[in-house]
Amino acid sequence: MLDLHVHLLGHEDREANRQNIRAFLEEASRKGLKEIGFADHDYYWEQMNFPLIREAAVEYPNLKVRIGLEADYRLMEEERIQNLLSQFPFDFVIGSVHEIAGWAFDFPEEEPRHHQQEADKLYRDYFNLVTKAAQSGLFTTIGHFDLIKIFGVRPTTDILTLADEALTAVAEKGLVLEINTNGRYKPVREFYPEKRLLEEIKRRGISVTLGSDAHSAEVVGRDIDEAIMLLRQIGVQEVIGFRGFEKLRYTLA
Ligand SMILES: [Zn+2]
Ligand SMILES: [Zn+2]
Repeated sequence: MLDLHVHLLGHEDREANRQNIRAFLEEASRKGLKEIGFADHDYYWEQMNFPLIREAAVEYPNLKVRIGLEADYRLMEEERIQNLLSQFPFDFVIGSVHEIAGWAFDFPEEEPRHHQQEADKLYRDYFNLVTKAAQSGLFTTIGHFDLIKIFGVRPTTDILTLADEALTAVAEKGLVLEINTNGRYKPVREFYPEKRLLEEIKRRGISVTLGSDAHSAEVVGRDIDEAIMLLRQIGVQEVIGFRGFEKLRYTLA
């Protein structure tokens, strides 16, 4: 199937050289993926090497290799992101909220601060930014839609109420949400987004794609089959790939 969220550079602990690119493509082929999408964090821009990815991809004719970006969405930084997007013809762009008012909330050492706050406020502040990210028109995809649950803090208010505006913005802009399987390896121990949100996403006719959020080659394609099983259970019949910002539909047979 597909995996449209992998980090060749990891957390800047790996170079974009031919050997490392091959390791990712090799694992994607081994797991039988049809499409893989590189989406390194925008703040490693200087370390990226898109021509080399294109070159290495030629060795894997059965694999569609896409080039994307995972851009950190912060208020007041839309112009900075726009500037990056104008410099390369990306296939897709994931907009992700990893930060609330300067607080990088998803780092392991930030867990205590999650438990010290009012959960509903945490969720409201987070989804408020996701809504703005969706409305910005910069992205094809919103990353790990309910990342704020990373440490297992749950809101009192219904998640469908808290996420309502963000989902409306995603639907209005025709954006795609990903099932990001990496959440299972975080304290919350489940995919992003949770099943209830996925059911609502289906009900609203929002399209979905798949991503492992692999920061190393061996993680490419991890749990993607299981994510597909979950989608089938919910009644989702297709997932989306991208070429030059255009949606490609893959039927879940
Ligand atoms: Zn992310
Ligand atoms: Zn990521």
